Amino acid sequence: MSTALVRAIGALAVAALGVPTCLAAQPRLTAPGAPATLTPAQQQARAIYKELVEINTADSVGSVTRAAEAMAARFRAAGFPADDIHVLGPSDAPDKHNLVVRYRGRTRGKPVLLLAHLDVVQALRADWPQDPFELREENGWFLGRGVADDKSMAAMLTANLLRYKAEGWVPERDLILALTADEEGGGHNGVSWLLANHRDLIDAEYAINEGGGGTLQGDDPLFHTIQAAEKVYTDFRLTVRNTGGHSSVPRKDNAIYSLAAALQRIQAHTFPVELNDVTRPFFEQTAKVEMPSLAAAMRALVADPADTTAARLVSMDPRYAAMLRTTCVATMLSGGHAPNALPQTATANVNCRIVPTSKTSDVQAALERVVSDSSVVITTSSRDRTDGAPGPIHPAVLAATVQLTNRMFNGVPVIPTMSTGATDGYRLRNAGIPTYGVSGIFSATGETNAHGRDEKLRVKSFYDGLAFLYELVRLVAGPNPPGPVS
Ligand SMILES: [Zn+2]
Repeated sequence: MSTALVRAIGALAVAALGVPTCLAAQPRLTAPGAPATLTPAQQQARAIYKELVEINTADSVGSVTRAAEAMAARFRAAGFPADDIHVLGPSDAPDKHNLVVRYRGRTRGKPVLLLAHLDVVQALRADWPQDPFELREENGWFLGRGVADDKSMAAMLTANLLRYKAEGWVPERDLILALTADEEGGGHNGVSWLLANHRDLIDAEYAINEGGGGTLQGDDPLFHTIQAAEKVYTDFRLTVRNTGGHSSVPRKDNAIYSLAAALQRIQAHTFPVELNDVTRPFFEQTAKVEMPSLAAAMRALVADPADTTAARLVSMDPRYAAMLRTTCVATMLSGGHAPNALPQTATANVNCRIVPTSKTSDVQAALERVVSDSSVVITTSSRDRTDGAPGPIHPAVLAATVQLTNRMFNGVPVIPTMSTGATDGYRLRNAGIPTYGVSGIFSATGETNAHGRDEKLRVKSFYDGLAFLYELVRLVAGPNPPGPVS
C-alpha cells in the first residue's frame, strides 16, 4: 500500500470515530463545587500536591528522587522514625529512587500497601499555554503535568498518612506508602525494583493503587470503579519476505499482498468472549446504568458467554468490546524498497491486549491459525505472560467503597473493572499481592487529558478523593474494618 493510501485510511478512521484532533482547543468550562475555604487538612494536601507537581519527574530530564526526598522530609518533620522512612532505588539510576514509609499499627497483621507513582510523562513548555510544572488553579480546575496522573493520588495518600499520625489514629495493622519511579516507562520501574530487591519493605495483604475512580455525567456521579485486573500488552510482528524482482513482470507471490491479506483476516477475526471474576460483576453492575436493551444483553452474556447475539450487541461500544475479550489490531506498517521493484519485505505491528487468563503463546497460535499463510512469520519479543484468573475484590475493600460511595457520591453503583491499558498493579498482582485501583476521584470521560497538553483535574474531585481515601484507609485498616457486603 502507498503511504498516501495509508494516510487516507488513517484520516478516514479518525473522522469515523469522531476522535477530537485538538482537545485543548475546546472551551474550558468552569467546574463547579470547589470549596470556598479550605480546612487545615485540605490546605496541607494542596501544599503537598503543589510541591509534587512543581518538581519535574519526567524521564530523562526530571528527578523522581527529588520528589521522594521532599516527601521523606515531610515524614521526618512529622516525627516518623528514621528507620521507617526509606528513599532507595537502583545505584545506576540516581534520579529514579523511590520512597517507602511505614506507619506502624497495633498488631502484626499483614500490612496494607498504598501505592502511587511519582514520575510523569514529559511535558514541553513550548506545547503548553503555561508552565506545565507549575500548579495552577483556574475556574474550578487544577492544571499542570501530573495533576491527574498520578500526583493527585500521591499527594492524597501522603497528606492522609501525615494526618493520621498528627491525629493520633493508629491502625490495627501497618500501613505502607510507596511512591515510585518509572510507571510511565524509562526502564527503572520502582515497583519491580522494590519487589526484586526489598520485597520485605512493601509486602502486604493487598494494595490500593491508581486505575479506578468515578465517572461523571455532566457534573453528577454516574458510577464508581474499582480496578482489579488488567489486560496484558503484547506486540506481534508480522513479516513476509520475497525474492522480489522487476515490477514490470509482476508475479502472484508478493510480500505486500500477502501481508495485506493476513491483516485483513486479523481484522475480521473476533476472539471469543472470556469473562472472569472482575469482568462478570463489571457487566452486572454496568447493566444498572445502561439503556434497557444493552443492559439486557449484558445480563444475557454474563449468564451465557457463548450468546453470540448478546456479544454482538455489547461489542457495538468499543470500550465494552475490549472488556469482553482479547483484542488485536494493526498499528504499524512498512514494506518495499523501491517504486519499480517487487517488494522483498513487508512488515506490520499488531498490538494485542490479552485477557489475563490467556497466554501470549495461545494468542500467537490463534493469530497463526487466523492468518493461515506460512509465508507470514509471526514473532513477538514479549515473554509468555499470563496473570492468571483475577480473584474477586477483597470484601473489606468492596464494603468500604460501597459504604463511602453511598455516603459521598449519591450511592451510584460500584463497578469492578479490568483496565484495557496498564498500571503498576499487574506487577504486584503477578507477585501475589492483590491490587485494587480505587480513589474516589471523579471525572467525566477523557476530560483530564492525562499524558496530553493541559492535563487537569477538578478541584472538587481532588478534595473529594482526599476525603474518600482518608476514610477508606481508616475503614480497611481498622479498628473495626467493615464486614463483607452481600
Ligand atoms: Zn499513572
